Amino acid sequence: MIKLYKNLKPYTAMVIAVLFFVALQSIGDLYLPTLMSDIINEGVMQGDTSRILQIGGTMLLVAGAGVIASILASLLSAKVATGLGTILRSKIFRKVESFSLNEFDKLGTATLITRTTNDVTQIQTVTVMIMRMMISAPIMATGGIFMALSKDKPLTWVLAVSIPVLAIVVAILASRMMPLFKQVQVKIDRINLVLREKLTGIRVIRAFNTIERERKRFDDANVDLTGNYIKVNRIMAFMMPSIMLVMNFTSLAILWFGGIRISEGNMDLGALAAFTQYAMQIMMSMLMLAMMFIMVPRAQAAAVRINEVLDTVPDITDAENTKDSFTGKGYVEFNDVTFSYHGAEQPALNNISFAAKPGEVTAIIGSTGSGKSTLVNLIPRFYDIDSGSILVDGVDVRDISQENLRSKIGFVPQKAVLFSGTIAENIKFGSDNATEEEIKHAAEVAQAADFIATMDGGYDHEIAQGGTNVSGGQKQRLSIARALVRKPEIYIFDDSFSALDFKTDAKLRAALKKETLESTVLIVAQRVGTVMDADRIIVLDEGRIAGMGTHKELLNNCDVYREIVSSQLSEEEMR
Ligand code: ADP
Ligand code: MG
Repeated sequence: MIKLYKNLKPYTAMVIAVLFFVALQSIGDLYLPTLMSDIINEGVMQGDTSRILQIGGTMLLVAGAGVIASILASLLSAKVATGLGTILRSKIFRKVESFSLNEFDKLGTATLITRTTNDVTQIQTVTVMIMRMMISAPIMATGGIFMALSKDKPLTWVLAVSIPVLAIVVAILASRMMPLFKQVQVKIDRINLVLREKLTGIRVIRAFNTIERERKRFDDANVDLTGNYIKVNRIMAFMMPSIMLVMNFTSLAILWFGGIRISEGNMDLGALAAFTQYAMQIMMSMLMLAMMFIMVPRAQAAAVRINEVLDTVPDITDAENTKDSFTGKGYVEFNDVTFSYHGAEQPALNNISFAAKPGEVTAIIGSTGSGKSTLVNLIPRFYDIDSGSILVDGVDVRDISQENLRSKIGFVPQKAVLFSGTIAENIKFGSDNATEEEIKHAAEVAQAADFIATMDGGYDHEIAQGGTNVSGGQKQRLSIARALVRKPEIYIFDDSFSALDFKTDAKLRAALKKETLESTVLIVAQRVGTVMDADRIIVLDEGRIAGMGTHKELLNNCDVYREIVSSQLSEEEMR
């Protein structure tokens, strides 16, 4: 947590101001009972109205100053805490942006969301508390004891008994509450995870009638969290009355023994009244300290989780000396590349070597799970390889800055993703300075212009969050258009034509060919028809290259390819 507070640097002045105002208020609070005792002794008991007014006026002033100090402290501490929250959230966001896909696989989206929102809020709340209590609790406790002693020494024995009793009660309850609070965060993670899966998978859940099962999964997570809170609240419910009991007994004891001392003439009425208040102040400050002991570990748990994100060193970072000043047309070369996913037993790709040249279409075909997506994901360096090398225009991708590398690539992922915004904005996502003309042209090449024209608003048609209001094939075509406006050296289409009918597929590829004359094009596909006229076809089988060549060559010398072809052709013939 201390580490997180280093981020408070820009707020140093404000923090000092808060501490100052809190101290001011505490000192005022300590002064008030003494003034009250004076009113009783010098005013009321003597029947001196002018003295009452005089001291009363001072009390008003002190109380008023206390109120102002308290307001200022609240305002500033809220400012500091929210400022810290903003800084932390943006730091986490920046960090997460720098993550490679490995870190996402490892941590998971749900927990990253909780950490950015809930955990930061936790820190924010506690920061306000710490700033207000850190100073006031010790001042009130020691000041209170000091003032109480000055009013009447023998009566302080009451406190010597009641404060330890209070401390023991609070310590017992707090120690039971702390572990519960720590678990809360983890359980909120769990709820987020279930909820996210549920919401993104809602169609499947409905279609397979698994609503009941999913409901149960959510309910379990929810009940689990609720149970936790209930336990906390049960302890809380017990805590308040026990504390009040101790405090009331203390008041009673003070009045009892104080009464005896007054009747013996050893103490005056004002001192007793003031003493009672000091006793309360001391105990309240003890409670504040106890609250801090409960809240701080909870925030500590949040801080650990936040630091875990902030301290993660992404697997993939730019090299010290990036060689970015190279030129080329997007020549891609794999040299004996082997790659395995984190924690996987076997490599997903083994000894892959090939070259994809500018002006040529290189197609990759193979059954599902053969490693096609994995292979193309390595080019933008979404993952780092185990051995071998991947060169773009003769430079190892690990020696190019990620930004520069990716600016050369127009990537159409297997799972088309659109963002909320208009169609035009979604296409423009590929290149900030694309003109209206270029956007329209890209849409035409991607065979998207026709369906865009039928939508109301056309290019200004709003895409819903997650792109739910367009079909799978439309989504694919829009993400192809997005890659096209970028005018990159390297095009990667990961199974981007799978949701298109044969006719649109053929039309799109014909239009694309004119557009990508100079570029390196990599097409991943399942259909033989899509890859047939490629300059080079790579046949992948269980992470290995089973054959490479043109359609004709492969028909002659590659069994795996022949199998794929015959299975698809016979399928079509059978229809
Ligand atoms: P294809 O695109 O040819 O269908 P993939 O490249 O997606 O195949 O997957 C190849 C293999 O790698 C599969 O066995 C799959 O289970 C595994 N795999 C894919 N993505 C991941 C990942 N993020 N973590 C671990 N294993 C993965
Ligand atoms: Mg794939």
